[in-house]
Amino acid sequence: MVSGSGEQRVAMSTQLLQGQKALVTGANSGIGKATAIALGRAGADVVVNYVAGADEAEKVVAEIKGFGVRAYAHEADVSQEDQVVGMVSRMVDEFGTIDIMVANAGLQRDAPVTEMTAAQWHKVLDVNLTGQFLCAREAAKEFLRRGVVPEVSKAAGKIICMSSVHQIIPWSGHVNYASSKGGVGMMMQTLAQELAPQKIRVNAVAPGAIRTPINQSAWDTPEAEAELLRLIPYRRVGDPDDIANAVVAVASDLLDYVVGSTLYVDGGMTLFPGFATGG
Ligand code: NAD
Repeated sequence: MVSGSGEQRVAMSTQLLQGQKALVTGANSGIGKATAIALGRAGADVVVNYVAGADEAEKVVAEIKGFGVRAYAHEADVSQEDQVVGMVSRMVDEFGTIDIMVANAGLQRDAPVTEMTAAQWHKVLDVNLTGQFLCAREAAKEFLRRGVVPEVSKAAGKIICMSSVHQIIPWSGHVNYASSKGGVGMMMQTLAQELAPQKIRVNAVAPGAIRTPINQSAWDTPEAEAELLRLIPYRRVGDPDDIANAVVAVASDLLDYVVGSTLYVDGGMTLFPGFATGG
């Protein structure tokens, strides 16, 4: 159906997810916010999860509704099992089902290893890894219950884990965060292997350095940005939309044969840039 003017083609490509229902965790800030908006623009109804900051979540909801799709905000802490169960259950009540789970919520609690408290370790693992597990599990239950609806998507459902280049790059001073993202990589692959026969696609998107509040100190002065750019062969810091666009693509049937993959969206940060001049 790719006929007609360029304008029509753009209109079609922006409706890649028409009729699908998506949930994005941590969707009132940074990457999650951009992703929720991009999914809405692509035609999906969207649940905007947040743990704090209801006003910002409502602004995201209003922007998504501007695309003519449905959206609402839902407060839940993804590390709390009962809250995740309640969040997905409400979505099934309100939207009928879920087609796309974007497990995006994450945080950092940085410290040198000898100063890192058990509380800092647990907090990051609880939100970044256990939170993604709980969201994936609840989505998978609904995908399995409903099965494939061919008019909606070739897959019974899509789970997209927000990982990081620190899924594979060690990161001194951030052992909790790097361990959580390494865990996300193996969790994603294991779930992909387990659920693929039921036509559920599980994948990860792994951002490099993206301009969001989580890493503001890494780019908010010219000196910090120059230092950061040394790690990025493409020589620009990423924007939340770089990640949001990748999520839309992975969620869509255009990438229906992509199962258990990590898509690095990082300007080449994982290319060992130190070896461009050394080694
Ligand atoms: P951000 O701080 O702007 O957004 C994180 C979101 O997660 C916020 O909305 C926050 O409230 C939410 N959140 C935190 N704890 C939560 C909880 N318990 N329950 C529900 N929501 C919770 O940061 P971001 O950069 O947009 O990060 C989004 C994801 O992208 C994270 O998983 C992060 O690890 C990952 N990531 C970011 C970068 C980057 O450069 N910004 C790079 C790699 C990976």
